[in-house]
Amino acid sequence: MKLLKRINGRTAIIVAGGLLTAYLALILTVTNLGQSKLEESQRQSLSLKIRNYTDNLSFFFDVSQQNLANLASNQATTTYFANLAAGMSVKYGLGSSLFNLEQTIGGYMHSSKIDNLPIYKRVRVIGLGGTSIIDTGDGLMPPGPPVPLKEMEHHRKRIEISKTESGVSINLLHTIYHQNKPVAVLVAEVNNDVLIYQLSIQEHKSSKSCLSLLTPLGGIKVWNTLTPDTPVLASPPPAMSANTQLIYLEKLVKGTPFKLISWYEPVNNQDIFTSTWFIAAISLLAVPVLAGLVFLMRVYNANLVLQTEIAVAAEQQKSLAEKNALLSQEVDKRRASEMELAFRAAHDDLTGLANRQAGMAALQRAIDKANVSGNSVLVMFLDLDNFKQVNDTVGHHAGDRLLIQTSERLQRAIRHTDTLARFGGDEFMLIIPELSGQDAARVLAHGILSLFEEPFNHDGQEFFVSTSIGMAMYPQDGDTPANLLKKSDAALYRAKETGRNGYSFYDANMNQDLQRKLALNVRLHQAITNDELDVHYQPIVDLKTGQIVAAEALMRWTDRELGFISPAEFIPLAEKNGLIHRLGDIVLQQACHQAAQWQALAPLAIAINFSSVQFRQCEQLQQRILQVLAEVGLPPDRLEMEVTESIFIEQDTCLINTLNHLKSVGVQLSIDDFGTGYSALSYLQRFSFSKLKIDRSFIQGMTNNVADRSLVNAMLAMAKSLDLKVVAEGIEEQPQADYLNLLGCEYGQGYLFSRPLSAAEFTQLLQSQALQIA
Ligand code: C2E
Ligand code: MG
Ligand code: MG
Repeated sequence: MKLLKRINGRTAIIVAGGLLTAYLALILTVTNLGQSKLEESQRQSLSLKIRNYTDNLSFFFDVSQQNLANLASNQATTTYFANLAAGMSVKYGLGSSLFNLEQTIGGYMHSSKIDNLPIYKRVRVIGLGGTSIIDTGDGLMPPGPPVPLKEMEHHRKRIEISKTESGVSINLLHTIYHQNKPVAVLVAEVNNDVLIYQLSIQEHKSSKSCLSLLTPLGGIKVWNTLTPDTPVLASPPPAMSANTQLIYLEKLVKGTPFKLISWYEPVNNQDIFTSTWFIAAISLLAVPVLAGLVFLMRVYNANLVLQTEIAVAAEQQKSLAEKNALLSQEVDKRRASEMELAFRAAHDDLTGLANRQAGMAALQRAIDKANVSGNSVLVMFLDLDNFKQVNDTVGHHAGDRLLIQTSERLQRAIRHTDTLARFGGDEFMLIIPELSGQDAARVLAHGILSLFEEPFNHDGQEFFVSTSIGMAMYPQDGDTPANLLKKSDAALYRAKETGRNGYSFYDANMNQDLQRKLALNVRLHQAITNDELDVHYQPIVDLKTGQIVAAEALMRWTDRELGFISPAEFIPLAEKNGLIHRLGDIVLQQACHQAAQWQALAPLAIAINFSSVQFRQCEQLQQRILQVLAEVGLPPDRLEMEVTESIFIEQDTCLINTLNHLKSVGVQLSIDDFGTGYSALSYLQRFSFSKLKIDRSFIQGMTNNVADRSLVNAMLAMAKSLDLKVVAEGIEEQPQADYLNLLGCEYGQGYLFSRPLSAAEFTQLLQSQALQIA
């Protein structure tokens, strides 16, 4: 089976072609060999035949000569010549002896036959004088060729050839002697037919051959079936000599001057199976067979190519199918990941709500629809109140849960045509298309606020969170998503300002606020560049002694066009646009420099406010503070850093390290505006603050408001327990100072003691105080 498998069509064809070629070569070789062998044997047999002919002829002449000799010496002959020599008269005895001789010669002629063919045409006896004694020819016969009588006197026998009209004539001559003297010549003219007969006895009409007996005077045509019309051939005919394939043989006839020449057609020329034509035909026959094989080979090759192509195509198809399968898997995967990416790109990870980008796109669609229907679109911007505090106290996880629950509550409350999006942090946007008017919006806003009346839950812990809502409407408040968002943000800001857990519609004044914010933004840049910012100082006094113990540096900016701008307005702005870092640096430098100079007048500390935003670059801030202190030569313990509780909302290790490091070099830390922000209080234990500044809102309400008073009491008690000194901010009246002093509050700050003063004014104040002490 293995062998069969190896022998494919191609090999089979090649082998067949090879075998056929070998077979043909063998046939040709064998045929050629056979042919030459045949030719050789033919030549040999022909040669034998020719030899046989010539031997026969030679024998014929020998016998004929002998017969003539006998005749020349027989009784009749000797009697006649004896009578002649004796001078016997014809009448008496010569006549009868001549008659007798004539009879003898005639009988001899008559009896000399071969296969009924007379051997002699004519026998004559010619006397040496030239007289014809006997002539068997009739009177019509020509006198016959001259006989060389003179020569015959010396020769006993001779074959004489002469040329006659009818061709070549052969005469056998024999000298007749009487008493050893030549007296006459016996001349016997040989019948050429006898010669021809003897020389062609073995020839057949069918055999192609040509024989001639050559004599010195010409040839005798013996046999010619090659070119029958040609007369005697003395030499090979031109046509024959050209045909070199004819077998030529020649042989001398012993004892005669004759030569037998002959041509024979070789047997292969006669035999179709050995002829050149046959071989050529066989060879020609092989051509189509070989051509067929070549064709088969080509067909096979074409088949092979086709099969290979089919196999390759099948292989390609298979690998293509595999690739296709992989590709479609890849496409599916990619489609799935693209869909996921697209979903992620448009959705918020935490809540699954539309994100800012998708929300804005939805708003654009709502605007487009409203353009057609002529309805209004309400944009509600929501921000959870105190979300950061929840995040910080209960943890980020709780913050996330709160956001998820908020989104679930909101989703349940809205229609399917409305769109809810989360804008990041605790900000949500709600788009309500096809709204009839402000009243409907109000109802909706109330409904949203009421969603937050229920407590939120995390790990069994309940807590309340409210929200503030800012609303803007299309088309009256803005015509683009960005514009409407800005307006609703402004309204939200207002809602926050007015106490939170409420809503606010956008109005034109808010726009003015926005304009002002924009203007301030630009002008604050210029103010920094043009050095238009100033620092004022407000004293912090010891409530017991009234002595100034510290000065709080407060930034002052009076714009040429906008007039005095409160830090409460531009500081949050600077926090947003990043200018707070530069502002903070200006204050740090000026205030520290000033405080260093004041050390000569009083050992007071300088309190500088630091925004939580400044701590986002905590390392640089720390380096800068230490650098400035070193530059101006202010002892670190004379610097009090005022920070609000908000810095602890985003606690990170950098902030903690910075505060700890500054504390370790002696810098004091104060909690500013204590009580207004989110008071987790736990941070108070974690950081070693030196002072706590109770926000002025508590101080001012303290005299009239029992709750504020008790809060202040509680704050003071707490500070005491944490070993913190307390500064009461915003003391405007003496009773407040007295009451706080009574409660053990160490320091006070407020208009009662002094408004914030310029550096020069503050210097004067310090000087006057120094004078008083002195
Ligand atoms: P703050 O640190 O609590 O500063 C005390 C604020 O209360 C000052 O307002 C001061 O003028 C005001 N004040 C003091 N005593 C009284 C009083 O008896 N009655 C009333 N009604 N107000 C009083 P100011 O200067 O407008 O600053 C507002 C806030 O801006 C500051 O509150 C502080 O948080 C921030 N701020 C001011 N300057 C800077 C600054 O250089 N850097 C930073 N980060 N914040 C600053
Ligand atoms: Mg302050
Ligand atoms: Mg304050």
